[in-house]
Amino acid sequence: MIMRSLWADTAEPAPPTTALQASASADVAIVGGGYTGLSAALRLAEGGAGVLVLEAGAIGGLASGLNGGQVIPGLKQDPEEIVALFGHERGERLIEFVGRTADIVFDLIARHQIPCNATRFGWIQAAHSPDALTIIRRRVEQWQRRGAPLEMTDRASTAAMIGSDAYFGAGIDRRAGNLQPLSYARGIARAAIAAGARLHTDTRAVAIARDRGRWNVTTAGGAVVNAERVLLCTNGYTDNLWPALRRTVIAANSFQIATPPLPDDLRRAILPGGHAVSDTRRLLRYFRRDVSGRFLMGGRGPFRDPRGPEDFAHLQAAMIDVFPALRDIEPELCWGGRVALTRDHLPHLHEPANGVTAFLGYNGRGVGLATAAGLALGDHLLRPHEHTFPFPATRIQPIPFHGLKRLYVATVVAYYRFRDAM
Ligand SMILES: Cc1cc2nc3c(=O)[nH]c(=O)nc-3n(C[C@H](O)[C@H](O)[C@H](O)COP(=O)(O)OP(=O)(O)OC[C@H]3O[C@@H](n4cnc5c(N)ncnc54)[C@H](O)[C@@H]3O)c2cc1C
Repeated sequence: MIMRSLWADTAEPAPPTTALQASASADVAIVGGGYTGLSAALRLAEGGAGVLVLEAGAIGGLASGLNGGQVIPGLKQDPEEIVALFGHERGERLIEFVGRTADIVFDLIARHQIPCNATRFGWIQAAHSPDALTIIRRRVEQWQRRGAPLEMTDRASTAAMIGSDAYFGAGIDRRAGNLQPLSYARGIARAAIAAGARLHTDTRAVAIARDRGRWNVTTAGGAVVNAERVLLCTNGYTDNLWPALRRTVIAANSFQIATPPLPDDLRRAILPGGHAVSDTRRLLRYFRRDVSGRFLMGGRGPFRDPRGPEDFAHLQAAMIDVFPALRDIEPELCWGGRVALTRDHLPHLHEPANGVTAFLGYNGRGVGLATAAGLALGDHLLRPHEHTFPFPATRIQPIPFHGLKRLYVATVVAYYRFRDAM
């Protein structure tokens, strides 16, 4: 197994970009060139705003180009939980928004003709226990009541769709699909550039300071971007640029492995319908095939960044556990990236100063949500008085004992792995 991302090996080329060399001005300076920052840049540029994106590395170079490529609508919370948390009116508005996130992705791909191997065969949430099946049934019913195309599948149909009898049944969400995540990020970047956005890579923002009613964002290279508004889109890679923002999320690693293209008999048996799957374990496993018939499995790794292929052994064991037929198939590639976990499992909008906006905390489900949120953030900045953004702005609330919390999560991960194994 080599530690390298499958997506980097197989992506469409990136649009040409350079580091920011000289100071510049913009209506909006965006920090972060993942799905959130790129789709916000696209919407803002389409709306006529002067946009400049500062990305520390490459376009979609981190979570947005490393993820599982599963486009799953909704939040981790079920609709009734969302209403309980936000009240009827805002809750239903939020449900409508998060229910459309996969539509928004596939519409964007169609509108800008983004080549990213997008398929829309649905997402299977597979129950690893009878109790989990009851929870899935409730979830499916709540979405069905709102007209969404979800249904339950019994144990035998689940086994046939997945190619494994490891599950007690499943819910299937027909709104969902798969894509090549890095090609998708690069495609949004191309569309944003075509609309007039300026994208600068290898350009880390290191300071933000007020400048007579505007903001100066200073880069590591010493250039200064003078902007009316600043949008922070740094999710699991949030650093100390804006005080305390980093401590509102726990950046945990999610790991993946990919096999070589499977032989024909295994392709006929494993995920023959091209679904995206995740299961209901506390440390969930997610899996799919790519366009070349490789099998990919992802899940939580050790808390720290991966050091080598040995850190992925548990995923290979999980793969064989679910698909014994893959016992003799040696995974070829392994890689990981950071997800941003929040205490309430919800993403958060912060507006800590006039002209500064941040949105982060996708809790590992951001392909659809970060795209939709980025576009909606663009609308929000173009027309702030219309209050169109579905999430309320909240105060930046650092997680108490943030450093210790990381240790705590590491311990909980180890404990859950033990429980799941039992
Ligand atoms: C391994 C893995 C698997 C996942 N699988 C799925 C999945 O299948 N489905 C799903 O829905 N979600 C999945 N996710 C989550 C999803 O990838 C993220 O929620 C989403 O990509 C977040 O997008 P973003 O633009 O907010 O953040 P990111 O893509 O993380 O982008 C943030 C960017 O900010 C930049 N940055 C940070 N600080 C600075 C600075 N000071 N100056 C300049 N730039 C800065 C970083 O370099 C980075 O490129 C997965 C995540 C991982 C890591």
